[in-house]
Amino acid sequence: MEARKFIVGGNWKANGSPESVKTLVKELNDGELTTKDVEVVCAPPFLYLAEVKDSLRKEYKVAAQNLWDKDPGAWTGEIPAQLLADMGIEWVVLGHSERRENCGETSQIVAEKTKFAVDKGFSTLTCIGEKLDAREGGKTFEVLDEQLKPLAEVLSEADWESVVLAYEPVWAIGTGKVATPEQAEETHAYIRKWLAENVSEKVSESVRIQYGGSVNDKNAAELGQQPNIDGFLVGGASLKGSSFTTIINSAG
Ligand code: PEP
Repeated sequence: MEARKFIVGGNWKANGSPESVKTLVKELNDGELTTKDVEVVCAPPFLYLAEVKDSLRKEYKVAAQNLWDKDPGAWTGEIPAQLLADMGIEWVVLGHSERRENCGETSQIVAEKTKFAVDKGFSTLTCIGEKLDAREGGKTFEVLDEQLKPLAEVLSEADWESVVLAYEPVWAIGTGKVATPEQAEETHAYIRKWLAENVSEKVSESVRIQYGGSVNDKNAAELGQQPNIDGFLVGGASLKGSSFTTIINSAG
């Protein structure tokens, strides 16, 4: 079994002006990489996808933050997968907790979107993670079971090759309250065990699981050393080129 390649995603969320996006791309392009052993995917807002795709260094991929899982047509205001594929976008973030919370995306919807995206040739960063009450109530694994089950139901073993799971405890997103390396590792190991029991050993060993939630240039190295953490999904710290580059370099 090949080693799992570290993968760092930058989720720019709904941030950016024409000027700040140019500045961020320049900072990222100027950043000195000390490792080649890492895959990088930046997810700007839809408005800037084309510009970032054209101007960002070519070893970094660009992701949409969502897609519409229907064929092109009468869907005013939506962005169907095919339109993104036609633009050369190869990655998509799906099921972010902000979409689950604010846009009513259930685990079933997230699974169906993931399947649709994979069928259209995308690779996905599919997000899962528990809220604070679940963590405090000892229900973390139950929540993860509920989020993983529909994915296991719709994805074939081959589909999983195009899926990266981003474990993002909701209480750690944008709060500055990062999970400890032990907490994150315990949960990642649980997800891997769940995949072994409910999908296959092969998928369990090969699927990459990112940690997300207040990752920054100071805490990334220690988190990244955990055996079951295969990368990060980074929000706030991905908006600063130097911090994001340090996080990327923490992989090596
Ligand atoms: C995120 O939005 O996916 C995220 C992890 O945000 P932050 O790094 O700011 O906590």
